[in-house]
Amino acid sequence: MKVYSFPRGGIRFEDSMVPSGDSSVTAFLPGLSVIPLIQHSGGRAFPTVGVGEQVREGMLIGRGQGPGSANIHATVPGRVVRQVSWTTADGYTNDALVIRMEGAFEKLGKREETFPWEGLSAANLRHIISDYGIVEMEMPGRPVSDLIPVPGALEDTLTLVVRCVFDDPWLVADYALCRERLRAVVEGSAITAKAAGAGRIVFAVSCREKHLGAELLAAAAQWSIPASLVLTGFRYPQRNERELELVLRLYEKKENAALGSLLILGPATLAAVHDAVKLKKPVLDRYIAVGGSAVRNPQVLRARIGTRLSELFAECGGFSRKPKRIAFGSPLRGRVVTDLDEPVIKTTCAVFALLEARSGGELSRDCINCGECRSVCPVGLDPEELYKRSRINRKKGGAGRAGECHGCGCCEAVCPSRLPLSTAIIRYASGEN
Ligand code: SF4
Ligand code: SF4
Repeated sequence: MKVYSFPRGGIRFEDSMVPSGDSSVTAFLPGLSVIPLIQHSGGRAFPTVGVGEQVREGMLIGRGQGPGSANIHATVPGRVVRQVSWTTADGYTNDALVIRMEGAFEKLGKREETFPWEGLSAANLRHIISDYGIVEMEMPGRPVSDLIPVPGALEDTLTLVVRCVFDDPWLVADYALCRERLRAVVEGSAITAKAAGAGRIVFAVSCREKHLGAELLAAAAQWSIPASLVLTGFRYPQRNERELELVLRLYEKKENAALGSLLILGPATLAAVHDAVKLKKPVLDRYIAVGGSAVRNPQVLRARIGTRLSELFAECGGFSRKPKRIAFGSPLRGRVVTDLDEPVIKTTCAVFALLEARSGGELSRDCINCGECRSVCPVGLDPEELYKRSRINRKKGGAGRAGECHGCGCCEAVCPSRLPLSTAIIRYASGEN
């Protein structure tokens, strides 16, 4: 079967500090859960309960307000003991309801009741997806109900793309979820396709995981919607929306497939859609890769939303030595964590702690003009040039092609001088210099 890859640049990214994706471990329930009111791309949800009130597992505790905002639910039963706020390392403020666990669980440990959805209209399905606060289970966490086109809004056909492209080893939690909840991912895809009016489903799977692609396709045969498998390369950033669309358009041309508009969603998001519609359950937990050189026993955990990072790391045996860098995501483009009381949210797919301040060493010196950054940029930019301009043109604007940078971090990862290229270019493009 043909493998489709984006045409230029990219890197092969391996990391031995990533946990195995063969299985996951269910994390202990947190005694105190910190449930942020922003777990999505838009504005803060409005709290519907106050300090001192009792909440049930799965109960609505924050109502989404406007585009990009989503409903928030309690992930354990208990009492709201306080409201806290904090500022993240990149300057964003969030606040959260802190729930002390007490009382009986309504979902956990109970036999799951299932609800048929085949007879529901697309509008009903979208309403349920919105009610249960389902967002992309990765940054930036756009609400799925915002992403689904309104009927009649599109002039051409729509294809739902299930993005199972593992170009970064820190996506291992998604891989474990696919292995353990494959049927939920596929049924969630069928539900989403119906809600969105998509005419077909494409499983985009990296070629190293083609066995997974075959299983997804076989499971999809149960649903009446046409489905196909597209094998992609695994060079990073193949999973990026731009690079993925490039290969899907190549596939479309070669196979005469007429994909039309694309709705691209990951497996964790589709499993969450399944849980909302089929089980009437909001996002209570998620798969998270916990690892890095400072972590004694890296694992993929299935942890409740609201679990604090200190508890995740403790569950993985704690730190061997004091870490120099802790961040969410992947070392290629992670978000720095400064407080281990920060909790797991819907978009947390990985968290790592490193003994080094940056992967590849801490040296930072002048550019030696080796050209490595240019050779790996998938957009065809000149990162070295943009970096220099960002330093000279501070506050002057006119960022040129910097706006085309999508922040993949390839240039920074290969730079032998360890220059903070992508960080500087993104800031330059946004006028933050
Ligand atoms: S300049 Fe931007 S798009 Fe190009 S490699 Fe660097 S981070 Fe990626
Ligand atoms: S990779 Fe680093 S050292 Fe090499 S040209 Fe680019 S900025 Fe300069």
